[in-house]
Amino acid sequence: ETRLRFPPSPTGYLHIGGARTALYNWLYAKKTGGKLILRIEDTDTDRSTKESIQGILDGLEWLGIDFDEGPYFQTDFSDDHKASAEKLLQSGQAYKCFCTKEELDNKREAALAAKKPLGYDRTCRNLTEEEIQKKETAGLPYVIRFKVPERDGTIGYDDRILGHIASNYREIDDFVIVRSNGSPLYLLCNVTDDIRDRITHIIRGQDHMTNTIKQILLYEALEAPLPVFAHMPLTLDTKKAKISKRSHGEIVSVQFYRDHGFIPWALNNFLALLGWSAGDDREIFSREELIENFSLERINKSSSIFNYRKNDPKFFTDPKAISINEHYLRTIDIEELGKMVAVELKNESLWDPAYDADRKEWYLATLDLIRDRFHTLKDFTSAGRAYFSDDYTVEQKPLKKNILKHEGLKQWLPQLADRYEALEQFSLAETERVARELAEELEIKPGIIINGMRTVVTGQLAGPSMFDILMAIGRERVVARLRNIEK
Ligand code: GLU
Repeated sequence: ETRLRFPPSPTGYLHIGGARTALYNWLYAKKTGGKLILRIEDTDTDRSTKESIQGILDGLEWLGIDFDEGPYFQTDFSDDHKASAEKLLQSGQAYKCFCTKEELDNKREAALAAKKPLGYDRTCRNLTEEEIQKKETAGLPYVIRFKVPERDGTIGYDDRILGHIASNYREIDDFVIVRSNGSPLYLLCNVTDDIRDRITHIIRGQDHMTNTIKQILLYEALEAPLPVFAHMPLTLDTKKAKISKRSHGEIVSVQFYRDHGFIPWALNNFLALLGWSAGDDREIFSREELIENFSLERINKSSSIFNYRKNDPKFFTDPKAISINEHYLRTIDIEELGKMVAVELKNESLWDPAYDADRKEWYLATLDLIRDRFHTLKDFTSAGRAYFSDDYTVEQKPLKKNILKHEGLKQWLPQLADRYEALEQFSLAETERVARELAEELEIKPGIIINGMRTVVTGQLAGPSMFDILMAIGRERVVARLRNIEK
């Protein structure tokens, strides 16, 4: 059985990079029929916060990335971490190092001057039992270092994405595994937890690779079977800088996409393509298709580019993310869309479809009519506002183009309103016939009437066919709005 994990450090919101890591692990677990474990790595108590933990849980839930085990909290397992350190000391694979910071600094400087390697010179590696006893009795503080085997040759692993990765034993420093205050270092905690949780595959960012060789030494020393490693490409912006909250702001947080009306699966689909492809240029994958097509081997080796053009207001994030969202918005099952839009309408206090169950058919048909031009769920309450409420605004562009240019509309549209009111049947064919008839009588182009009507009835420059709109908005509202032009 495969066992995977997502171990975020709760020091900030859920970042799209973190979400992508979670997604890839989730996909691989689903694909292999394995388990995914959520482990919150909260040992850095100064930087970990409750809000961050909640934000990560909420973000994952919104994305639909579910877990088979957890959340576990790293701080609950400090006994395990200490036991690992103790085991390594007992088996002679780690040692206490009493060198002071000052001594280490001096050694470093001397090595720098002599152009020698800067690693620890292993002074304390060969202390005798008596020497250690004496220093401990004298109450000298110590760190615990891992004893890197003194051996020629290399230690390595087969990365499932990058191929064989190796280092010379002689180039690996005797790294610290426990601080002088007795707290084990992250490197050791992480391995200890992965061993206890029987993790078989570690899929994480290339930024963790500096730790991997050291962690492999720890696995060997702790006599644990080695997991498979797969290091994913980093995500950079168009200028090849690492994406971060500091330089990119909220667009790198998952929350941002929720707040901007993304459909959760659309963001997953976008993140899947940020570092992976099916081998062709296909861009749309349903949940099942993605699980079926996903493989570690098809993850890119080189960096992924998050294509965000800061100064282009048309694209508030990567245009590909928006186009994928549009795809789902326009094709998703209408009932499902109805549920999502209902949340938006309720949030804006426009209308609650749940209270109007007998208008459900109308509601879904209206969504289906207007969704083709929309980019996000937010458009239903902005550009689509006039379908659900009388409290909408007329945009400047259509106002100038369609209304202000034709003074006469102030009489013509109320005239049209009267005729619509009097119509026996307020139908598609009848409303169109009457509008054209009026234009003919007035000797103006029907477009003037139709565009004027569109502007006052919807507030928008463009939209679906005008007479479809009239049917969706309904006679009463249409008539009132056409008359309202006088004001
Ligand atoms: N807690 C680490 C992070 O958030 C994860 C390290 C790992 O995957 O091994 O970056």
